[in-house]
Amino acid sequence: MRESPVSLTIDLNADGLQHGFFKLPISTDESAWGAVMTPISVIANGEGPTVLLTGGNHGDEYEGITALYKLAARLTPEDVQGRVIIVPTMNALAAKAGRRCSPLDGGNLNRSFPGDPEGGPTEQIADYFTRVLVPQCDYALDLHSGGRTLDILPFAAAHRLDYLEASLGVEQCRHQEAESLAGALAFGAPSAMMMFELDTEALYDTAVERQGKVFVTTELGGGGSTTPERQAIADRGVDNFLAFSGVLRERSRADLEGDVERRHADQTTRPLLIDMPDASCYVQSEHEGLLELCVALGEQVSAGQCVARVYPLGRAGQPAVEYRAERDGVLVARRFPAQVSLGDTLAVIAEVVDDLARDAS
Ligand SMILES: [Zn+2]
Repeated sequence: MRESPVSLTIDLNADGLQHGFFKLPISTDESAWGAVMTPISVIANGEGPTVLLTGGNHGDEYEGITALYKLAARLTPEDVQGRVIIVPTMNALAAKAGRRCSPLDGGNLNRSFPGDPEGGPTEQIADYFTRVLVPQCDYALDLHSGGRTLDILPFAAAHRLDYLEASLGVEQCRHQEAESLAGALAFGAPSAMMMFELDTEALYDTAVERQGKVFVTTELGGGGSTTPERQAIADRGVDNFLAFSGVLRERSRADLEGDVERRHADQTTRPLLIDMPDASCYVQSEHEGLLELCVALGEQVSAGQCVARVYPLGRAGQPAVEYRAERDGVLVARRFPAQVSLGDTLAVIAEVVDDLARDAS
C-alpha cells in the first residue's frame, strides 16, 4: 500500500505547544494545486500517554467541535505529562460547509474507515487516521452528537468487543472493553452507554478498537447547534477524559478530579446507565410525511407504546401512521426535523440497567 499523501505542518514528536494543519493535496476547479487543510494541535511535555481527541467526524455536530477548539486554546504543556493531539474537525470541509458529509466528494468520513490512500479525499483522510495518527495514541475520544437530523440524550459510550476476540484474543478484549467503559463513565455525561451500532465495519470506532486502543465515543445533543447546558457537558467531559487517561499533571488533575467527585457524590447527578442490546432499539420510518414525536428525550416508554405518528402531507383528513416501541426503555434519540422520509430513524429506545460491566449482565 502506498504511503499516505497527507503531510503535516507541525512536528508530532516535539515537546511544547503547536497549532497547524495536516494537508491533503487536491486539485479542483477552484484550486488546481490546492489542499484540504485540517487543523491539528499538539500539546506535549515529556513522558506519558498519548491521547487523541477528535471532533467534527461529522461536520454538523457542534458540541464536540466547540469543546475541542476551546481546549486547544487553553491547554498548555505545563498541564500535560505525555501528549495530547487535538483534531477539532476531522472532516474539515464538511464542518466548514455545516454538513454531515464532505462537499468535495460526498464522503461520510465515519463510513469510510479504514480508508484508502488511493481513494477519494474522504477515504484518504480516513487512511491517514488509521495508519498515522491512531497508531501513535494510547487513548482516543471521538466526540459526536446528532447533527442536524437527530437530537440525542447526552451520553458517553463504549462498545462490546466480542467481534475482536479472534484477532486480539479474549483477554485483551475484556481488558480493553473494561477500560473503555471506565473512560465512558469518567467522561461524566448524564448518561453512559454500551452502544449497539447498526453497521460497525467502516466506523472510525472500529478502526481504533482493532488497534487495541482504549476508545470512547459520545453523543452530546444535536439539532445542528449547541446549548449552554450541553456545551458544558462536552467541555467538562473532555477534561474528565484527559484526567482519566493520566495525561494531566497533578496540578491540573486536582481541580478536575474534585469536580468529578462532587458530581458523583450528588445522587441526582449519578449517570443513567443505558444498554443497547440489539437493533430492536431503533424505530425507523416506513412512511413519509410530518412527524409527531409522542415522548420526550429521556422519557420512559413501554413495549407497544406509541412513540411517534407520521401524517401524510398534502391531503387533509388522513389517519396518521403510528410507530410503537418494540421494547421497554427510555427515549435516547429522536429525529430532529419534523419531515420524515422512508428509512429515517424516528426514535431510539434503550434499556436502563444497574450496571454496564460484562459480569453484571
Ligand atoms: Zn457523528
